[in-house]
Amino acid sequence: MLLFALTLWESSMSNLKAIAIFLLLLLFSSNLFAKENNYLLNTSLHKNQLKFIFKYNIDHVKFFTLKNKGVIKYVYDVKNAVLPRSQYIKQYRHSSVLAFRMGQFSKTHLRIVVESKKTHYHTYSIHGKVLTLNLPRGKKGASVYIANSQKTPLQGKKRKINRYSPTVIIDAGHGGRDIGASWQGIIEKHITLKMALKARDMLVHRGYKVYMTRDRDKTLTLRQRTDLSNAKKANIFVSIHTNAAPKRRKNYIYKGIEVYYLRGTSRRTRYSNRKIYTSNWKKNRSYKLCKLIKSGMLKNVRKKHIVIDKGIKKNNFWVLRGTRAPSILIEAGYITDKYEGKRLTQNAYQNGLAQGVVDGVDAYFGRL
Ligand SMILES: [Zn+2]
Repeated sequence: MLLFALTLWESSMSNLKAIAIFLLLLLFSSNLFAKENNYLLNTSLHKNQLKFIFKYNIDHVKFFTLKNKGVIKYVYDVKNAVLPRSQYIKQYRHSSVLAFRMGQFSKTHLRIVVESKKTHYHTYSIHGKVLTLNLPRGKKGASVYIANSQKTPLQGKKRKINRYSPTVIIDAGHGGRDIGASWQGIIEKHITLKMALKARDMLVHRGYKVYMTRDRDKTLTLRQRTDLSNAKKANIFVSIHTNAAPKRRKNYIYKGIEVYYLRGTSRRTRYSNRKIYTSNWKKNRSYKLCKLIKSGMLKNVRKKHIVIDKGIKKNNFWVLRGTRAPSILIEAGYITDKYEGKRLTQNAYQNGLAQGVVDGVDAYFGRL
């Protein structure tokens, strides 16, 4: 191509116009080429919207509906879009949607299908790389629920949730821009979210009302976490984290589970514009919860692994001070340890830890 261009250049200066057109064509075709692999990078579910972020600007979306036996399929064909294997939307739950589906319909079309019994208008919008689908509106306070990508094993008999059910806040540490600790590709925010989702599924099965500070990869402040707990009048608050060894002390062995509760000797009642809760009642209850959850976790993971008990510790982390409810922070293990780090990323180990948390909660409420 370049040779051809050079020949043109040499042939005559009067051909400048042709060269200009040729270069323009080249630019245009390279632009088209770049758009060919317009990968879907991310999806997120919001209250009444489902968002898709692509690598490049979206060319065109063809929208139509199919009706069958009272179910409406809202179909969106995204032109020149490619679906990577890692992206799926079937895990999303929304109160007025029956199912979310997505697939590579043809080489050049990515198909998104939203199934619902509800009819609605104003269905989608495109802003550059972002496609936003407006979902049919649910009842007041439509609930958004993100299922686990893996199925959570549920032990014991299912308990019904009623007005006497205790309310539990599960706080998956970090999230979004705050990735937490990271070590050789192991990232804290992903582990804490997976464990939190598992603990939620298990707690719901055992008849607890559960609220999560986050059920997806989302940036949250510490205050938002404790505000949720206080707004929901939670009975307990459980924050899940993973540990990392300090950088300079590589020779010392850092591994094992530790659990924190409030060190509250301060006479202050407010901190950075929020009330803080440091009563002895709360400290005693939090200590009890620490003890029961730690032994629950150790009992479960020690069935197959050797795990060190690092004990119960005190700290004045914000999530321990800012909740009215008894509150604990779990450090589920060290991602920097060769064996523990690997185990923490494994589904079976996470199940064991989550089950341990739930057994501890059951013991705390005397529901065993
Ligand atoms: Zn952390």
